[in-house]
Amino acid sequence: MNAYDELLERLKDIDLVNQIGGLLGWDQEVLMPPKAAKLRAEQLSWISRTGHEKLTDSRIGELLEILEKDNNLDEIQRGNVRLAKDSYNKATKLPTDFVAEMAMHKSKSQISWTEARAKNDFSIFRNDLAKMVEMSRKKADYLGFQEVRYDALLDLYESGLTVSKVDPLFAGLRENVAPLVKKVIENGKKPEMSWVHENNWSKEGQEKLSQSISESIGFDFEAGRRDASTHPFCGGPNPDDVRWTTRYDESDPFGSLYGSLHETGHGLYEQGRPRNLDFQPAGSANGLGVHESQSRLWENQVGRSKEFCEWALPTWKKYFPEQMKNVSADELWRSVNFVEPSLIRVEADEATYNLHIMIRYEIEKKLIAGEIEVDDLPDVWDDMYEEYLGIRAPNRTLGVLQDIHWSFGAFGYFPTYTLGNLYSAQLLTAARKDLPNHDEDIRTGNFTPLLEWMRRKVHSRGSIITPAELVEEATGRPPSPNDFIEYLKQKVERLYDLAA
Ligand code: ZN
Repeated sequence: MNAYDELLERLKDIDLVNQIGGLLGWDQEVLMPPKAAKLRAEQLSWISRTGHEKLTDSRIGELLEILEKDNNLDEIQRGNVRLAKDSYNKATKLPTDFVAEMAMHKSKSQISWTEARAKNDFSIFRNDLAKMVEMSRKKADYLGFQEVRYDALLDLYESGLTVSKVDPLFAGLRENVAPLVKKVIENGKKPEMSWVHENNWSKEGQEKLSQSISESIGFDFEAGRRDASTHPFCGGPNPDDVRWTTRYDESDPFGSLYGSLHETGHGLYEQGRPRNLDFQPAGSANGLGVHESQSRLWENQVGRSKEFCEWALPTWKKYFPEQMKNVSADELWRSVNFVEPSLIRVEADEATYNLHIMIRYEIEKKLIAGEIEVDDLPDVWDDMYEEYLGIRAPNRTLGVLQDIHWSFGAFGYFPTYTLGNLYSAQLLTAARKDLPNHDEDIRTGNFTPLLEWMRRKVHSRGSIITPAELVEEATGRPPSPNDFIEYLKQKVERLYDLAA
């Protein structure tokens, strides 16, 4: 067997271990009885240790050394070698015991976060979070960095991302978005929302609505499923088995529908991965920023457009005939786009969403650097909401306890959400040039042309090239915030008649 085939065989083995770990993680979030928590932590720790041992096998190092000198590799082979080398380097820097301890602690601390959030009591989560922060700092030190410790963690979710790259990007966004939000609050006409709040929205109706819309867009339920969980997510081992979740609130139907559109976007990306590259790193999705571009595309750029609301109205009326009796497509469109500073990130509108991300980014930067400690977090959180959004959480559940990410040590993850927003606007701007009937297609529920465009330009390209290269290849330009800022300005001015 040649070196490349031997490497692929070993990578497949590792991928299978990770796939099984992913299914156990899904089960933990969706189905697992509470008493199984300790056992599950043991199981996940074993999976994590086994995967780590396989990846750090010195034979992989030898194979990579041979292959890096090989000038006859094609684009896909080069992609696989580059990605395997990156994983190998990162993994060999982390001691196996440390990886197992971290995996064990992740399961434990997710349980205490869930309890703390339900009981609105930060102290239940405090010690587990403090340990997680300590372990994340140690992880960054093991991985190494050029400028600041946080850079080592950012790089885990978007290859090559650093504080010095994110800072100017976020500053530019904040400069444009903050005045826009202020203008809406001061001058904007508020949409008529009583039809939303004065009605009850049954969970059953919401399930049917989100199922129907997810199917229409193109998610294949023969190769995936929808469930409910506290924190919505999309996972699953392979394009044949993609699983996403949502949550339901009977006083507000938008959270579950737009959460479903979001996760459907992630799911479509997973289902569109290149099948000839199964079990290979080059066949996997290309980092979290690109992943988030696909969820934001269907949730916002498509799902919150006027044309989409016109198409979706009859489906709304089918499952909620009484509640939707006198609601027009225009009212629906204005309501799903209501811009208002709010406390919950996952339910935030497009205009304020990135401000939520900037708060978390600023906090993480200071926390990983040791400039603030875990006991400072609840108040630092509330103070920053006051500064950025002008509001304060009345309790910890709506404040510092709202996101699951820190409970599993995902420091450095949040900025990829904002990258996703930027990429989604840039991709749709490029797609529109190839699809002159885009608006009419959406109005008539013909989602295939846009999905096919994404399949061709993004999904089928896997991770063969880097995220920034992929965005440039698909759109003809390097990543930039300009299309997003332009999109948001136009939309908000139209919604709130601000241009005049
Ligand atoms: Zn997402």
